Amino acid sequence: MKKRYDYIIVGSGFGGSVSALRLAEKGYSVLIIEKGKWYTKDDFAKTNWNLKRWLWLPSFGFYGIMKMTFYKHIGILSGTGVGGGSLVYANTLPKPKKSFYNNGSWAHLLQWENELAPFYSEAKKMLGATKNPQLEEGDLILKKLAKARKQEHLFNATDVSVFFGEADEEVSDPFFKGKGPRRSGCTFCGACMTGCRHNAKNSLDKNYLYLAQQLGAEIIAEQEVYSVIPLGTEDGAKGYKVFSKSSTKKRNHNMEFEAAHIIFSAGVLGTLNLLLKLKESSLPRLSKQLGHHILTNNEALIFSVSKDSTRDLSKGVAIGSILDVDDKTHLEIVRYGEGSGFWRIGMLPNVTGNNLLLRMGNMFAKLLKHPLSYGRLLFVKDFAKQSTVLLFMQQIDTTLQFTKGKHRMKSKISNGPKPSAQIPLAYELAEQYSRLNNAKPMVLLTETLFNMPSTAHILGGAVMGSNIEEGVIDSDNKVFAYKNMMICDGSMISSNPGVNPSLSITAITERAMSIIPPKD
Ligand SMILES: Cc1cc2nc3c(=O)[nH]c(=O)nc-3n(C[C@H](O)[C@H](O)[C@H](O)COP(=O)(O)OP(=O)(O)OC[C@H]3O[C@@H](n4cnc5c(N)ncnc54)[C@H](O)[C@@H]3O)c2cc1C
Ligand code: SF4
Repeated sequence: MKKRYDYIIVGSGFGGSVSALRLAEKGYSVLIIEKGKWYTKDDFAKTNWNLKRWLWLPSFGFYGIMKMTFYKHIGILSGTGVGGGSLVYANTLPKPKKSFYNNGSWAHLLQWENELAPFYSEAKKMLGATKNPQLEEGDLILKKLAKARKQEHLFNATDVSVFFGEADEEVSDPFFKGKGPRRSGCTFCGACMTGCRHNAKNSLDKNYLYLAQQLGAEIIAEQEVYSVIPLGTEDGAKGYKVFSKSSTKKRNHNMEFEAAHIIFSAGVLGTLNLLLKLKESSLPRLSKQLGHHILTNNEALIFSVSKDSTRDLSKGVAIGSILDVDDKTHLEIVRYGEGSGFWRIGMLPNVTGNNLLLRMGNMFAKLLKHPLSYGRLLFVKDFAKQSTVLLFMQQIDTTLQFTKGKHRMKSKISNGPKPSAQIPLAYELAEQYSRLNNAKPMVLLTETLFNMPSTAHILGGAVMGSNIEEGVIDSDNKVFAYKNMMICDGSMISSNPGVNPSLSITAITERAMSIIPPKD
């Protein structure tokens, strides 16, 4: 490996992968440093009970693709590995509605909807977005719900980044005129969120990263960047020194590199953890807005669990359909593959109540009223076959902030009400859906006990602004007060999309990269 690069990219998720390909195409030498492991199709867990291959929990020796992080006010699901969140994600690529472009700290900087339109098209093409061709039982129940709410016209099959060739039949690259890797068709096994073992999911290692490597970009896995120091001058004009350490081996295995430019693409948790720490040491000029404007997409994850053991709700792509409940709210049907029943260990009935006592009272009342029903739900034969997850997402203003803690970040309420697990509209939809599904709604115990919501779409924290007082980066993703430094990942998202965000992260990074001139 070289020791000095034109660009070092921290993290290989959506922002990092797009940056790597576009910079390599422009003739720059590129190194991506990724904390997680390289995964090939046979490495993925068969079910999410294989915690070693599914979860990222290094202190237990688990080096999988899915990370769970709990803060005081929010539980966060995110991805780790070469390809970042694309390894664990549910492939869904919706485009946000108008209000995304006209809200938040970036709204006054550009006419974002027009500006980003060509980059959304490019992102869809690169990620291979295709309409899900096969609605399954859970999706058809959502369609029924839509009909009951007189919203059938707002129900749609999702656009997903999946190759729908002949199931399990390998063919030469169908997306990039043969320049990409060989691929196989989707089997509709529902296991996208434990990693696709059929080579059908268009994760980033099958498109952006693969093509970037063909052009000479280098990827080093299992290394965590822990420090970045400007070289020579304080503002980074002469580049940066980058320090990393092994994230998987017990023995020390430290590395050092130099780069003319650095791009932070470590996802919201990775980028903010690192930059909040560096603001107190080597990068003190970073904006005071760092860690502010954390967006949670106002999410609720509600399981609709059926008592009927003859059913199989696990078939289909992980997210097969979407309902636009109103212009700020979306509901999606999510599934895990057969045998993936990990979440059952944290299930409780969903109840309302402003404090713990009230919620516990309501929960015991429900359990005592239907002891047999709930007993059977907790011990269903195959939790994945008998349950559907309802993913509820909404655009509302957020009030969270991340600050540096002693060992890791802490969450803090900024102004206004804190994010809540109990969203009346989400509960109403879950009850309606479950009635049609002959099922009962259940939620994670963190929601019932602590009213702590969970999200798979944490965003913001390094938002755009017109100056350093307003934001951490400018409208071209350049970090204020530093030269040759950019942020391209979920932390740049400056307004709640109210839908799954990967397509937007890809499109905004495509735009930022399009502005960089070719080398020489
Ligand atoms: C279960 C699940 C399902 C999801 N489904 C969808 C979906 O259907 N559609 C959708 O749009 N979104 C979905 N998401 C969300 C999506 O995965 C994220 O929004 C997206 O991956 C964020 O992209 P990113 O560019 O911010 O970085 P990420 O994809 O999060 O990648 C960041 C990478 O940086 C690495 N990293 C972190 N710190 C360091 C460090 N210090 N040094 C080196 N490397 C580091 C991480 O290991 C990670 O690989 C889902 C998420 C989860 C968890
Ligand atoms: S449904 Fe199965 S085969 Fe299809 S993309 Fe998901 S994991 Fe791969």
